[in-house]
Amino acid sequence: MNSHRVQGSTIVSIPLHLANAISQQLHHFLPSKYCCTSSPRVWNRCCSAQNKMENQDLSKFTIKGDPQSLQNKISQIRMAGPSKLQVIADFDGTLTRYFINGSRGQSSHGLLQQGNPEYDAKRQALYEYYHPLEFSPTVPLEEKTKLMEEWWGKTHGLLIEGGLTYDAIKKSVSNALIAFRDGVVKLFEFLEERDIPVLIFSAGLADIIEEVLRQKVHKSFKNIKIVSNRMVFDKDGHLVSFKGKTIHSLNKNEHALDMAAPLHEHFGDTDGPNYDNASVKNRTNVLLLGDHIGDLGMSDGLKYETRISVGFLNDNIENNLDNYRNAFDIVYLNDAPMWEVVELVSQLCSNEAQ
Ligand SMILES: [Mg+2]
Repeated sequence: MNSHRVQGSTIVSIPLHLANAISQQLHHFLPSKYCCTSSPRVWNRCCSAQNKMENQDLSKFTIKGDPQSLQNKISQIRMAGPSKLQVIADFDGTLTRYFINGSRGQSSHGLLQQGNPEYDAKRQALYEYYHPLEFSPTVPLEEKTKLMEEWWGKTHGLLIEGGLTYDAIKKSVSNALIAFRDGVVKLFEFLEERDIPVLIFSAGLADIIEEVLRQKVHKSFKNIKIVSNRMVFDKDGHLVSFKGKTIHSLNKNEHALDMAAPLHEHFGDTDGPNYDNASVKNRTNVLLLGDHIGDLGMSDGLKYETRISVGFLNDNIENNLDNYRNAFDIVYLNDAPMWEVVELVSQLCSNEAQ
């Protein structure tokens, strides 16, 4: 694999056919001041003004902040073995793609049509107000956290008030523009074969994530556990409340871990191992996958020894790249597929054969 130094980081080259595919995606990310050069692999800023982003090649998939530190972490996790490893993954924009056929993919909240156009419009208005604030690099974290609490609270209130039913969830998922990144199913299978638990830790909606897994993957994984906002329905299938503390994009921490319920219970499969919170907490090495700086808090409830953090930077790349590169061990740009993560996990487990 070729690599070269850029501003103290290593950027890993990618095959040309992948570069061609992502250069198309870049039209969605970059403002018009960026243009494509004669090579589809290299994007340059058209103007000549000095800028810290000027020398960065945003057409690359993979950016490793500190390759030596990453290599040390890989070695430590390999030495400890798969029995000490767990994966903690965000759902929306991490396991799922950000763009699908050129259109913005839907989130587990966003795909929901509650069968009441008035309330769908009210939730959309909230999205249009709060979403830019969520990803704004200029709003202070404390203020942003309060805004997210407001947003989630209002949205959940509208779902109850608007009379959401479980049937509407099934229908919404079947009509939704949502897809897993290529390689996600392979990742789940690889981890299940090695009894490595996967915690899907989401500020979305657990009931919808489970329905997406049912409809898009068509199989259950006994090693997957969902930590997310869980709905309570009455006997007629109407939403009446939410369980426990609201999880939003900036409070994914140890408190939320206690809300988890194993996915396999909802598939009627009770024979698989039950990864309760205690057993998960004994796995002290973590591979964390997220698309938001707040996702790094997903491992706060664990006294982990070694953590490798992988960030998917999907939006506002120009303004957020430095923050992501400083926060995550590896950053993937441009809706990268999950194949490199599968390779990484394979590497982490490679002591098995020795
Ligand atoms: Mg996300």
